[in-house]
Amino acid sequence: MAGIYVHIPFCRRRCHYCDFYKTTEVTRLSFFKEALVVEAELQSDFLKGERVKTVYFGGGTPSLLGAEDVAFLMGTLRRFFKLDPSAEVSLEVNPDDVDSGVAESWARTGVNRLSIGIQSFRDSHLRLMNRRHTARQAFQAVDYARGAGFTDISIDLIYSIPGMTLPEWENNLDTALSLPVNHISAYHLTYHEGTPFFECLRKGTLTETTEEESLSQFDLLMKKTSEAGFEHYEISNFAKNGAYSRHNCGYWFGEKYLGLGPSAHSYNGLSRQWNLADLDLYLEALKARKLPFDEEVLSEKERLNDYLITRLRTRWGISLAEIRRVYGDEEAGGVLRSALPYLHDGFLEQEGDVLRLTPAGILISDRILLELIRE
Ligand code: SF4
Repeated sequence: MAGIYVHIPFCRRRCHYCDFYKTTEVTRLSFFKEALVVEAELQSDFLKGERVKTVYFGGGTPSLLGAEDVAFLMGTLRRFFKLDPSAEVSLEVNPDDVDSGVAESWARTGVNRLSIGIQSFRDSHLRLMNRRHTARQAFQAVDYARGAGFTDISIDLIYSIPGMTLPEWENNLDTALSLPVNHISAYHLTYHEGTPFFECLRKGTLTETTEEESLSQFDLLMKKTSEAGFEHYEISNFAKNGAYSRHNCGYWFGEKYLGLGPSAHSYNGLSRQWNLADLDLYLEALKARKLPFDEEVLSEKERLNDYLITRLRTRWGISLAEIRRVYGDEEAGGVLRSALPYLHDGFLEQEGDVLRLTPAGILISDRILLELIRE
């Protein structure tokens, strides 16, 4: 199985916390689409004819694409790759871009999963983060998506927003869990260097939530989602009735994926590629029919560490048998030795040959990973 990620690098405005590659020069969309066709053609051999089981339009703001644009890009992917007829095709959308007409027309292009960037159901949070939409538009977006026949709907939420209280977060969770969605991604707000929020933090005009508050909010997230029948299948991801993001599972299971668009990453099992995070350079390179990426061939140790980093985050955990099979007894023994103190203290659990985080371990997963990764 393989996946394709398409990065749509346009946003109408910049959210104050965001460090994804994007530009507000939306008028360049048509040049970008042309370049994407060339990139798809030049990369048509990257997946070696493997069947593509997932396509993910991420951004930026893919919902700036009308149905015709999405149909054009899907046609391009079908032209150069073997798209499975039952592929999961996800589109990230901003709530204020969704109405019943456009949702229905996206569905007709083959998109079968919407990921709605709601972030919060409180207007004060949305304004603080410089989001474009309102809480009302967030509700409407879910309604329109359902009305258009989407049954796979994911929503994104952010916790530890400056000033967010535990009751406010609880309210956001209760609201989210009352909606007809079968997937929730919930992220701790991160202060990335170069973002307005980072600057405010530096100047002291914003106050970061304390570690204790963050842990309480994360605890509440785990408790509420579990009570509502959602499975916590990855640190930031929760699914109902097995509605996992198949695309993200591909990343965590080490499947091949091709990334198209500026800043997109690719992986073919042996090396990683990443496209230049610069629309000008991206367009220029493809105009000259050159691929705009840098590449790193992964050593065996790096591949093992990638496996540990991605799999420990999931409910499927780390398989010592798998490590033994691919990397040998010594590496498997080393991972187990590093895990022993955490097994003893209840932060990891072992079931047969599988090590996985316990709920307490999820809270200190970064620390555990640092111990497990191989030098
Ligand atoms: S819409 Fe998404 S990609 Fe664009 S600035 Fe906001 S968070 Fe970043």
